[in-house]
Amino acid sequence: NYHVVLAENRKLYNEVQDLKGNIRVYCRIRPFLPGQNQNHSTIEFAGEDGELIVSNPLKQGKDSRKLFKFNKVFGQAASQEEVFRDTQPLIRSVLDGYNVCIFAYGQTGAGKTYTMSGPSLSSKSDWGVNYRALHDLFHISHSRRNSIMYEIGVQMVEIYNEQVRDLLSTNGPQKRLGIWNTTQPNGLAVPDASMHSVNSMTDVLELMNIGMTNRATSATALNERSSRSHSVLSIHVRGTDLKTNTLFRGCLHLVDLAGSERVDRSEATGDRLKEAQHINKSLSALGDVIFALAQKSSHVPYRNSKLTQLLQSSLGGQAKTLMFVQLNPDVASYSETISTLKFAERVSGVELGAARSNKEGKDVRELMEQVSFLKDAITRKD
Ligand code: ADP
Ligand code: MG
Repeated sequence: NYHVVLAENRKLYNEVQDLKGNIRVYCRIRPFLPGQNQNHSTIEFAGEDGELIVSNPLKQGKDSRKLFKFNKVFGQAASQEEVFRDTQPLIRSVLDGYNVCIFAYGQTGAGKTYTMSGPSLSSKSDWGVNYRALHDLFHISHSRRNSIMYEIGVQMVEIYNEQVRDLLSTNGPQKRLGIWNTTQPNGLAVPDASMHSVNSMTDVLELMNIGMTNRATSATALNERSSRSHSVLSIHVRGTDLKTNTLFRGCLHLVDLAGSERVDRSEATGDRLKEAQHINKSLSALGDVIFALAQKSSHVPYRNSKLTQLLQSSLGGQAKTLMFVQLNPDVASYSETISTLKFAERVSGVELGAARSNKEGKDVRELMEQVSFLKDAITRKD
């Protein structure tokens, strides 16, 4: 009967979630922009329980429909507030000493910066995850002030062509910075990037203005450069338990990744080609690391890119990872959308339909099949 099927469905679904380990993948679809033809959407279905069906409306035939599964899907109408609400528990765990990484992945124009920073800072309702996170951390740390004393420091760097630069440097041109071995507990990955202690949103907004100015200086157009570099905002939290006088640390990395679009090799030359190769290499290195972690593999290839070296102590182990997969619903983006979704499928460790020999992969696949079978059964009973 209905309730048995529902309970069974829940149980299987939870088992699938558990097998995914510490990696969560959320999908966010950005709305159509003025001028885009809304009739040509590649999003056929976006379900609250994380199901996404993508198809190409300009192509006939059933094979063009593809089903993807996420921990959560945010449709075009989702607000910044809603997106943050489902991210908040992860962010707050930083105050308990966890390391957390949150990424935005997708092609240029798919809404990465909108999700992470927001379209503007002037209106609070526009704020993206970055500002809401800091606001929330201030709020919670203040409310705990009788038992724990917190200190919050912020760094922000850019990785461009495999070179790391300080985006919060206040003294002129930025040097290339080195990444240190962060396998040592609580070590700073980029000790030479300036660290700014922050106590309020006023401090934060002031700093972010420096960051944006620094990001713009060397580029002809701000958008150009920002879509070809990764920016990493790192929030370092140090807590002192006032009763026991013990010290603990947590770190939250908020990463706005470079655009994942493939660059036509025949057209790209010189600097453009070099940039494309660096981006390609670092995004696949990130994919490989998260995939290895999802598989609980004994070797995790952190050394293959600056990005994964920098985040090493916050990826894997007890650390928690969340990937926002950003989609542009326009049909012109169909093939980029599919390639973005393939990346997402891979990092979530659940490759639907892909042949893999290891047992966990097979179990997950079987569970997923049963989940969709049971879902169908429930829908029929309704
Ligand atoms: P990316 O950083 O991935 O290149 P942007 O975040 O700059 O993409 O988004 C591209 C454009 O779409 C911007 O004009 C942005 O304001 C708009 N946009 C993105 N996501 C949303 C959203 N959820 N709601 C409204 N506008 C959005
Ligand atoms: Mg951007």
